[in-house]
Amino acid sequence: RPSGEKLPLSVLIAAPRGFCAGVDRAIEIVEKAIEKYGAPVYVRHEIVHNRYVVEGLKEKGAIFVEELDEVPDDMPVVFSAHGVPKSVPAEAERREMIYVDATCPLVSKVHRQAERQIEKGKHIIFIGHAGHPEVIGTMGQVPEGQMTLVETVDDVGKLPFGQDEKISFLTQTTLSVDDTAEIVNALKVRYPNIVAPKAEDICYATSNRQEAVKAMAPGCDLVLVIGAPNSSNSLRLVEVAERLGTTSHLIQRASEIDPAWLDGIGTVGITAGASAPEVLVREVVAKLAEWRDVREEKIRTAEEKMVFKLPRQLTD
Ligand code: SF4
Repeated sequence: RPSGEKLPLSVLIAAPRGFCAGVDRAIEIVEKAIEKYGAPVYVRHEIVHNRYVVEGLKEKGAIFVEELDEVPDDMPVVFSAHGVPKSVPAEAERREMIYVDATCPLVSKVHRQAERQIEKGKHIIFIGHAGHPEVIGTMGQVPEGQMTLVETVDDVGKLPFGQDEKISFLTQTTLSVDDTAEIVNALKVRYPNIVAPKAEDICYATSNRQEAVKAMAPGCDLVLVIGAPNSSNSLRLVEVAERLGTTSHLIQRASEIDPAWLDGIGTVGITAGASAPEVLVREVVAKLAEWRDVREEKIRTAEEKMVFKLPRQLTD
């Protein structure tokens, strides 16, 4: 090989990857709210878990805060795609604030199911990751003490409920499909009468992205997942690749790639979590092309056509 000539690198790109319909909608809600109400518009919590997206919206006039008490009464506020406990819109109403709820409709669907189960007198077991804003939001839909969080199969064994108690379960939307199936199995063994959600709570975007990585990872020496460390669905994609025996790294930007990762490697797979924009995928491919002679190929396992409507207050 003449000196200076780059070694070939095959780059597989998973599809679907990146933005889901809920993230698209949440970002558009912030942009439309800025158009309608004028800057600044406050956003409670990162609208979606991606620094690039958050910085872009800050430039357009969004101010990000963690709690509602950081927002002045007379300023409009948007609630993030992950959903909020009921106490948050209630407090905004009490303070007569203008607020726009960017909770993903698929998260809201879980919220409504939680309410219905409580009306039916059920105690709810919620499968999710402690501390994630979606979990805080969903648990905040029902009176305290009526929903119990489980994170693992082990947690199921520690539940204090008897077999004759009326219980149901729901799940976070961005979980590992495989881990959740195991937890649900353990719940059904322990509580044969447990009521399951009408349809799977794990959303289409989460399961499609995991499925695509399952198809791609076995043919890769390395899988790069573009996403934030606090993005649940992105972390799950790293796990999926690792479980198939392929080394995988979560990166936020191309600048985080360590060139040493490519030593002796012929095929790299790329995917992106539901909150990571496509421009970051292109940035990663461009970075790889600086070092290697890149040949790109797409691995598609599903088509996605989901689009969610904007809240009426922004379209009227
Ligand atoms: Fe909605 Fe799923 Fe996207 Fe979360 S990952 S915003 S639940 S579509």
